[in-house]
Amino acid sequence: MKIAHSSCLAFLFTLLILPAGRAESEQFHCGHGQFLFAAPDASDYRKYAPSREIDILHLTLDVTPDFRNRTIQAQATLRFKPIARPFAELKLDAVDLRVSAVTATEKVLAWQATDKQLIITFAQPIAPATETTVTITYSAEPKQGLYFRTREMGFPATDEHLWTQGEPTEARHWFPSFDAPNEKFTSEITCRVPEGMAVLSNGRLMSKEKENGTGLVAVRWWQEKPHANYLIALCAGYFKKVEDKHGQVPLAFHVPASQINEAAASFRDTKDMMGFFEREIGVPYPWAKYDQVCVEDFGWGGMENTTLTVLNDRTLFRAETENLRDSQGLVAHELAHQWFGDYVTCKDWSHLWLNEGFATYYEGLYEGHKNGRDALLYVMYSRAKGIVAVPNDTNAIVRRDFNHPEEQFGFHAYPKGSWILHMLRSQLGDDLYRRSIKTYLERHALGNVTTEDLNAVLEELSGRSFDQFFDQYVYHAHHPELTIGYSWDERTKAARLSIQQVQKLSDDVLLFNVPLPVRFRTKSGTVERTLNVREKAEDFYIPLPEAPESVRIDPEMSLLAKVTFTPPASMLDAQLADPRDMLGRLLAVEQMSGRKEALAKLKEALNNDPFYGVRLEAARSLRALQTEDALAALIASTQQSDARVRREVAAGIAGFYREASYAEARRVLTEEENPDIKAIAIAALGTYQKPEVRVTLLEYLKSDSYRNALADSAIGAMRAQDDAAYLEPLREVLEKKEKAFTSTGFARGIDTLAWLARNEAKKEAVREFLVARVNHPRKRVQLATIAALGTLGDPKALAVLEKVASAPKDSPERAAADKAMASLRDTRKPGAEVGTLRNEVLTLQRENRELRREFDEFKKKMEATGTRPADPKAVKTKARK
Ligand SMILES: [Zn+2]
Repeated sequence: MKIAHSSCLAFLFTLLILPAGRAESEQFHCGHGQFLFAAPDASDYRKYAPSREIDILHLTLDVTPDFRNRTIQAQATLRFKPIARPFAELKLDAVDLRVSAVTATEKVLAWQATDKQLIITFAQPIAPATETTVTITYSAEPKQGLYFRTREMGFPATDEHLWTQGEPTEARHWFPSFDAPNEKFTSEITCRVPEGMAVLSNGRLMSKEKENGTGLVAVRWWQEKPHANYLIALCAGYFKKVEDKHGQVPLAFHVPASQINEAAASFRDTKDMMGFFEREIGVPYPWAKYDQVCVEDFGWGGMENTTLTVLNDRTLFRAETENLRDSQGLVAHELAHQWFGDYVTCKDWSHLWLNEGFATYYEGLYEGHKNGRDALLYVMYSRAKGIVAVPNDTNAIVRRDFNHPEEQFGFHAYPKGSWILHMLRSQLGDDLYRRSIKTYLERHALGNVTTEDLNAVLEELSGRSFDQFFDQYVYHAHHPELTIGYSWDERTKAARLSIQQVQKLSDDVLLFNVPLPVRFRTKSGTVERTLNVREKAEDFYIPLPEAPESVRIDPEMSLLAKVTFTPPASMLDAQLADPRDMLGRLLAVEQMSGRKEALAKLKEALNNDPFYGVRLEAARSLRALQTEDALAALIASTQQSDARVRREVAAGIAGFYREASYAEARRVLTEEENPDIKAIAIAALGTYQKPEVRVTLLEYLKSDSYRNALADSAIGAMRAQDDAAYLEPLREVLEKKEKAFTSTGFARGIDTLAWLARNEAKKEAVREFLVARVNHPRKRVQLATIAALGTLGDPKALAVLEKVASAPKDSPERAAADKAMASLRDTRKPGAEVGTLRNEVLTLQRENRELRREFDEFKKKMEATGTRPADPKAVKTKARK
């Protein structure tokens, strides 16, 4: 899965251009039972794979969606056999499913549906290895797991669709299941849709038939190879597609019908990637076909369901943005998962890095394949920079002390996981690394893996022990922080490197034992050594023919470490002049960022370095100088053919508050054609309180652009101006042009509206605008509206918020309403305290009622557990044969 923001950590998207957020909401489903009753089960704080009492062989789903009501009617059939012991009670994860019938090939004594589980009790224990089939008929209005995008929600009628998301634990919201990764089974999904809609799912298309009675078309898919529950997927709707083929594997890229013109560009590398991955990995693409489908308001960047990857439609782009946007990283990442994650799957979420670290690394390897080794090194350099920026991290990559699996989808699993593989590859060499990964995949094909499975293969094939490597980098936290000093001893003709490990040591963070390559360039040649760093402080003496011109620490980026090493200025100059060493030039430019005397060199690098990453860093270093000369150097460097550098220069200039900087933003607006760079100039205007700025921002507010990007940028600038004069025009545009905005853009507009009105005496108009949208069918807009009522600070909104706050306890809208009410109370003027107290009392009363109800339910469940199955009447149950 490719993540978005927290779940997923903004910097993961450095390569992806997706500033995505969890689309539907900030859904962190902390189970409320857990919240209330965690104390007696204290060991619960560590998470392990659940036991498998049965082996699930096959799942059949038959789903009929109702697009108007956003509900489904469905039937789920599970075929299984008990593994070792007689088996009497089947417990399936099932959240808010309205079960109407349960039948089975063995006699069912009773079944009960709680709000989290479906529990089926058999009359007699089923003997081991006896195949049993259970069929569950149910309906649902899923809050998670299955998401509708319909005309009632403001999407074009001709684009209507639905999509599902399983990982990590959403599947249970749309079908009853053993919802953990350590069980694999084949599956078959039938979906009945109106004629003209496409249905996509895992595996092979088996049939497509129009039904006489309903007029619906039943489309049936079959995944013939076992896969994990979270990889089961269904998409249905008015999609259009582009197609291709890699050998015998059909490839297709589907988008909502209105976006078909953008499909080809995002699809273009897929075939090349599949060929590259097959060669690199050594294992042919393991599935029957590969579909990718873009959907609206997806909660993540992408999701690698077997043979059916779902992508956030924000990945689509137009040629006008040049190379600022593409789908390469996202498409490569999800495709790599078809091997890593899908073909072999982490046994439980603590080993998630075996899915995400691999996908992230192979996405980087493809970048290297396409754009050269420096491009791969630049990817690893950027990731390392993000990782080592986290101080005193105490979380290991493999950790079990999390509340919800979503917490695992962070930088440990993704960039740090990719760095683990990069270090292994650096230490083993390409060939041995490739053979090891191929063996690991083949040995665990269609099965589950833990970190020890990878370790075992590496040790077997290389003969080397990697126990310490995994212990320090994977089972313990953080990375080495190396402070390195250099001196030259002319008498002994030796370079001295004094190396200290300065990371804070604890039970979580070890002293590291690592190989550290170093490279010396001298007049008579290059000397390379690998130092074994293992003590807290050590001196290394390296004999050289003469004093080196440059000293490079870890010159090929083979070690994840925070290295503090400041070579003398003359060495930095030599480094920057070395055409063979992109990383050396990059580091030199970075280290020159605080040095005013380096200005000419930085300007030279910005305009002439052969690698775009060095040019980018040079622009950043110039910006960091914050001098008139640095601004002049940036302004003199705007003619960049690579849009990535041009954008960085524009952003650099915008980072100065100067008249010249303002003039440059104006120039960009008239001369620049790339909308992403124009957007930077519009945002830059926000800092300047000039009458003509207002005119320009209002023009862009009303302008038309792809995804309304320029209007979005103007709204951001208006927020920065904090001028209530924008209120009326902004409200009007939001009112009249809602459909032109993305959900995220519209949500930002709403936030800005409330922000601009927060200090106004009259707030009625804005309040009414917001109140009218407090039940907006797009979750992202609804949540923004609720938050905006808090920002607006109008106590008259309390009554409405109080109603929203009576939504179910775990719902994101309730959390948002509670927060908004709290902020309203904070901002209330003295004298209104009585009202505030009243609201607080009301909230407490409501919470008290709910606690009481939960407690009663809990008591009932406990009683039921104690008496079941003898007294099936204790809870809602129905007995069937
Ligand atoms: Zn992923």
